[in-house]
Amino acid sequence: MKERIVIVGGGVAAHECAFALRRLGHEGPVELVGAETEVPYDRTLLSKDQLAGEDAGACVALSERPAYADAGIDVRLGVRAVRLPAGESRVELSDGDELAFDRLVVCTGGRPVMPEALVAPGALALREGADLPRVHDALARVRHLVIIGGGFIGGEVASAAVKRYAPVTLVEAANAPLAPVLGDDVAGRLAEMHRAAGVELVCGTPVRGVRRERDGLGVVLSDGRTLWADAVLVGVGMTPNVEWLEGSGVELDDGVVTDSACRTARPDVLAAGDCARWEHPGYGARLRVEHWDVAMRHGEAVAAAALGSEEPFAPLPYFWSDQHETKLQWVGHAPAWDRVDLSEDDEPGFVARYFDSERLAGVLTVGRPRACAAARRELQSAGVAQEAMSR
Ligand code: FAD
Repeated sequence: MKERIVIVGGGVAAHECAFALRRLGHEGPVELVGAETEVPYDRTLLSKDQLAGEDAGACVALSERPAYADAGIDVRLGVRAVRLPAGESRVELSDGDELAFDRLVVCTGGRPVMPEALVAPGALALREGADLPRVHDALARVRHLVIIGGGFIGGEVASAAVKRYAPVTLVEAANAPLAPVLGDDVAGRLAEMHRAAGVELVCGTPVRGVRRERDGLGVVLSDGRTLWADAVLVGVGMTPNVEWLEGSGVELDDGVVTDSACRTARPDVLAAGDCARWEHPGYGARLRVEHWDVAMRHGEAVAAAALGSEEPFAPLPYFWSDQHETKLQWVGHAPAWDRVDLSEDDEPGFVARYFDSERLAGVLTVGRPRACAAARRELQSAGVAQEAMSR
């Protein structure tokens, strides 16, 4: 209970871990080191209320600064962990300092994938509070926005931009936005939602590059066409921030590999949140998910693990997204499925149920929050995962 626990990362997983340590009675020093200059904040608002509003506004802190002092949590912001030497219980920081620890908790999340061909001409990405003023300013002046990538962030930015700012073209390499994850039928319905809201979709055509042109940017497609834009936002996925752990003795494989109780190959190092690939006992597989609710609960779980708990982390994955005034909610885990049942009724929105060998694996609800709550209960009763939160 007197151990020195250092948490590297400044997102929701780090926040939950720090406060959970105190709730669980930990009395030793707790230090949180975050690369951003903000205390942990609600990242999910960046592509929603904060983008759609008159001005970007300040990030919405998960806990205000005094709460950290009250809980005896030391916070070092604007500082990055740069190296964890193998076999040593100290972490080196970007300001030249180093921190000794008894336990190290890694919650370093991820950063957007940004291919070189897109970054050079000034394409935008949205992951951090520091990105938001740039994206917000660009949208306030834009005459034509092109979004590369039809994932959830691309869809949310398209939704905010078309409603408030300017014409939007969303370019997606697959047949429809989200088709690789949700299948063609469901993705086709989501594509209709975008089109009905005024978003132009260009699908099945990967982007070859972006080039500067005299009066803006040219988005060059693989079929030879060039789309003109005066702002381009890239949303083609994220990659975990784990390079600083190379050579540390921690196993890395598209994230920090842990067992079901957040423990890495080093007994003094644990990991949670978007950067962690952990053994989910209910699914019998290693998962790395990029969902707010999972990261939050993972933060709590890693705090317990740092204090010696061996309780496996087995959440029912839950994700939501707000697009065109409609809430999309996903619950479950369905990396593969052999049947999708789509609701056929006259109510707004729809429900898609994903089955793997006759077993319900996941449910997507669009504009049907009550159906999502019911799906959650149904999936929980199958007993593979713990309760999921809702939002
Ligand atoms: P992060 O939030 O990525 O936090 C990691 C922190 O660690 C960052 O502050 C980073 O700067 C810091 N860091 C990185 N490297 C170092 C280092 N070496 N040293 C010190 N600090 C470091 N999920 C949903 O379920 N629903 C949504 O609607 C939704 N909307 C989203 C909208 C946006 C714009 C984005 C970007 C994500 C959204 N997500 C959503 C995903 C969700 O925000 C993430 O799953 C969640 O933030 C992950 O939390 P985390 O703490 O693991 O990592």
